[in-house]
Amino acid sequence: MPTVVSQKATSDKFTHVQDSDTQQPNTGLMVQLRSTAKTYFNGHKALLDMNLEVKQGEFLFITGPSGSGKSTLLKLLYGEELPTQGKVIVDGCDVASLRGDRLSLFRRRIGIVFQDYKLIPQRTVAENVAVVLQAQGYTRKEIQRRLEPTLKLVGLLNKADCFPEQLSGGEQQRVSIARAIIATPPILLADEPTGNLDPDNSWQIIQILQKLNFFGATVIVTTHDEQLVRRCGHRVVQVRNGRLHQISQ
Ligand code: ADP
Repeated sequence: MPTVVSQKATSDKFTHVQDSDTQQPNTGLMVQLRSTAKTYFNGHKALLDMNLEVKQGEFLFITGPSGSGKSTLLKLLYGEELPTQGKVIVDGCDVASLRGDRLSLFRRRIGIVFQDYKLIPQRTVAENVAVVLQAQGYTRKEIQRRLEPTLKLVGLLNKADCFPEQLSGGEQQRVSIARAIIATPPILLADEPTGNLDPDNSWQIIQILQKLNFFGATVIVTTHDEQLVRRCGHRVVQVRNGRLHQISQ
């Protein structure tokens, strides 16, 4: 069984999976892909021989045309898909070796934001965000303590009691970011988070992600919005035909 220990991350506590079988030495890297490939069951080769290193605290954009393999790459990082070749190491864990409880504990340390928000329509903003901590067994007091600063950070304190249908697309995406970060994960993955948004709302979302990065989170964002990427000046890699190309350092 893995042991769960408390660590300090920014100003908050979070749980950390420690297991001698799966834990890799601390290298200062949050993500390592080593000769990683993914072939789906139908024989489709989505990713070919990828090598990538992302440092702790880095902000990385992954660009590339639709169907090039960006989502597949992120799915490998949070263990939704397994590599068919090579290794995927995230926050010191060899992701493919994690199963059951170990995989669940590992995923608690990853915040994920999707293009389509994935909010629960019958729950308010506050409830949609709190549900993550409820599932992890946090006390009501601790949930209340975390809710206010998290909603404030994404600019939605005044919408805490609204339902998703009462919000704009940009606001819904900000709820999904609040939900992804309320457990203070050290890494945040965002898969086309601005894909359904206009330029102003897209920029607001990126600014929130940059703020989280400033506070210490490693942030990895997939997008095909070249203009947005250029505006930010962060490191960029591109996926083309299942291969990774370095665009900027
Ligand atoms: P992107 O995120 O860049 O649009 P994806 O990672 O979603 O690309 O998909 C990469 C390729 O893998 C596409 O050709 C897609 O059709 C294929 N693909 C994605 N998921 C599966 C799956 N579960 N089974 C088979 N092929 C898949």
